[in-house]
Amino acid sequence: MIFFFGTRASKIKERKIRRTTCSYCNSQDSFIIATFSKYFHFFWIPILPFSKTHIAECTHCKKTYAQNEFTHEMHAAIQKENETNPAKRPIWQGIGCIILILLFFIPFLISLFGAFFGNTSNDNNTTIKDVRYEYLKEDINSLSADLHPIQDSISFALKTCVDYDIESGIDTDQIKYFSKINEDKLLVLLEIRDMKKIKATERKVMIDVVEDCLTAMSNLEHINDYYIGVEGKWNTILVKTPTDEDLGGKFADKNKLLPFYGAKELETDLKSSNETFETTSDSINLD
Ligand SMILES: [Zn+2]
Repeated sequence: MIFFFGTRASKIKERKIRRTTCSYCNSQDSFIIATFSKYFHFFWIPILPFSKTHIAECTHCKKTYAQNEFTHEMHAAIQKENETNPAKRPIWQGIGCIILILLFFIPFLISLFGAFFGNTSNDNNTTIKDVRYEYLKEDINSLSADLHPIQDSISFALKTCVDYDIESGIDTDQIKYFSKINEDKLLVLLEIRDMKKIKATERKVMIDVVEDCLTAMSNLEHINDYYIGVEGKWNTILVKTPTDEDLGGKFADKNKLLPFYGAKELETDLKSSNETFETTSDSINLD
């Protein structure tokens, strides 16, 4: 097998230099300097640039000078020109190197990502999935701004109360709600897309407003535990449960709401771990 590798050069700049005299025809300021950049290539794919060289041509007598024939005056003129108009190497001369770095880092980053955010245990290509993720995903998808007073009475009453309590510039008509009861537990989800109007540190007030409204509702006396989640434009931004909370106002772990659905329910199926990775990765978008 023949490998094609070696060095090549390409012209990266042509510049006129001043305060020079051609030693052959005595013309003043007649030089054009062509700058070449050398790079290593592998199968003609540029890997890494390594040096630059200049060739001067007198535009008057057409004599060319290699870099080792340059006079002091010419060297000084190039240096001066470099200060204001440098000959930069184009990025494509290192494209092979960039590709190699990416090829090395992408699998590394993906595995790092999986180690931090993956929730799966992999055994003989069998993925064990906690079905509560699917329940929560479905409930988040059911968020609605168009609430029915009977079919969704808790959300409807909550909206009336929140609309009254909220004082910031948020457009309350755009807030979406979802609520669900599981024995003595209540899940309440809100989606507030223009949350940017409230400072991150003050956003947790929304949870207080919701809690106050829920406590005031007479038909919720049998509820002991509240699970409250607030979705922003891109991700979950606030979560509060009886045992846990994320109230920083920018990023909250919505999986903290999972205990609402009960203990971990496992479903075993023969899917690749990538699929589960996708379903869990949507909780890591940043606001
Ligand atoms: Zn000349």
